[in-house]
Amino acid sequence: MTPLPLADRYARFRDAVFSGIEESQLPGFEGPMPELDLQSLWFAGAFGSEFASNDGRQVTITDFGVWNSGAGPDFTNCAIRMGDETVQGDIELDPDARDWERHNHSMNADYDRVVLHLFFSSPAERFFTRTSQNREVVQVKLEASMLAPDAKPNRGLAAARIGRCATPLREMEPARVQSMLESAAQYRLELKSKRLHRCVAAQGREEAIYQALARTLGYRNNQQPFTLLSQRLPLKKLLKLDAAKRESLLFGVSGFLETIRAEDTEPETRAYLRQLWSEWWKQRHACLRWLDERQLPRWKLAATRPGNHPQRRLGALAAMLSAWPQIIAPLADATRWSQAAWRESLLALAHEFWTTHYTLMANPASKALALIGETRVQEMLANVAYPLLVPERTRLWAEYLELPALLDNQKLRRAVLRLFGDDERGKAFTTRLHHQQGLLQIYEDFCLEDDSACANCPFPERLKEWG
Ligand code: SF4
Repeated sequence: MTPLPLADRYARFRDAVFSGIEESQLPGFEGPMPELDLQSLWFAGAFGSEFASNDGRQVTITDFGVWNSGAGPDFTNCAIRMGDETVQGDIELDPDARDWERHNHSMNADYDRVVLHLFFSSPAERFFTRTSQNREVVQVKLEASMLAPDAKPNRGLAAARIGRCATPLREMEPARVQSMLESAAQYRLELKSKRLHRCVAAQGREEAIYQALARTLGYRNNQQPFTLLSQRLPLKKLLKLDAAKRESLLFGVSGFLETIRAEDTEPETRAYLRQLWSEWWKQRHACLRWLDERQLPRWKLAATRPGNHPQRRLGALAAMLSAWPQIIAPLADATRWSQAAWRESLLALAHEFWTTHYTLMANPASKALALIGETRVQEMLANVAYPLLVPERTRLWAEYLELPALLDNQKLRRAVLRLFGDDERGKAFTTRLHHQQGLLQIYEDFCLEDDSACANCPFPERLKEWG
């Protein structure tokens, strides 16, 4: 495989950023406790609302305020009764009292409204919390033993907020943002390429492509069951069978035929089930061990849109296998690749039953539905075709860069919100597939690894090093 130059640049940036990051090990907690989880527990009132301050005053939180999503103290606009007096202001929560100084809050005017400093550990010698105005801030030391027994952190709120890097990204010239996204996209493609080419080395090219395509048909929730099915029913076995036998084997080994009673279905489905069973009963005995409860693929059906139901996707896989020569031809050799031909073959797939049905239990749809739509083709280009071909013919990277962005999922929307906030440029940097792939890589590498509500994330500071 030819190494991709931009991927290497992003990999070096990523490794440099991550060197030296530590997790907090706090007294009384089992294992490291991420700061974000501590904040979440505090905000939910899991530590209680009445405390004794370090200088002996009674402290009662009467308003937990707003969990701050930007720079500055963790919680703003709080109300706290201290002795006889009620004060309004901000609260900062740190794993250790000395973090106040380590993070330079004592010199930062944004922290001047802090009226309460919370922490879990402190040095043996007395440590004072002071603002840039030299005002002393009341301190409360929290203990793990104060936690309600059933308390669980809920990070959902923080996961959907604007990140600290939105400001530096807004100030960065567009060409540099583009270069970073392109490098991160290339790094992501290289990771996918390595996985796919490892499978090619182990299973052979066509088998690896078949397994990767089957996995893509699993969408987010059912990738693992589709992979399992494609491993149990390898391409070389399926291609030796006629279409009816092949399809009955796919549906039989999936376990879907075992749980559906024909009398509960509508007439067209009943006829289709009869057709599947007429072949499946002959092959079922040889597959018995896979029909054991513990061996069946673990399909996730909750929260799956009808159009993405795995039964329908299995129908798409059966249709794809019937058209295998057209599907595999453009991928057999990188010099013969034609994106248009491949796309056309996938979009043209049809199936007598599945073109008009969502599931085995649903009534027929009022009109024909695409078996594989443009978005699925895009996923297959991003996860199978280009990861396979670009390392074999690096000129295809330019073609990859031109692919429009069609993917839309929650993770991507969250990544755009965190990195670009409400900056209009967020839209400009999400028009191409490689933008989306680059954003997802940065989100996974930094946002999902960050336990400090952005406070300790090194990405914003290191951005200026991206030339
Ligand atoms: S965790 Fe890092 S990369 Fe993610 S939004 Fe916060 S500052 Fe940005």
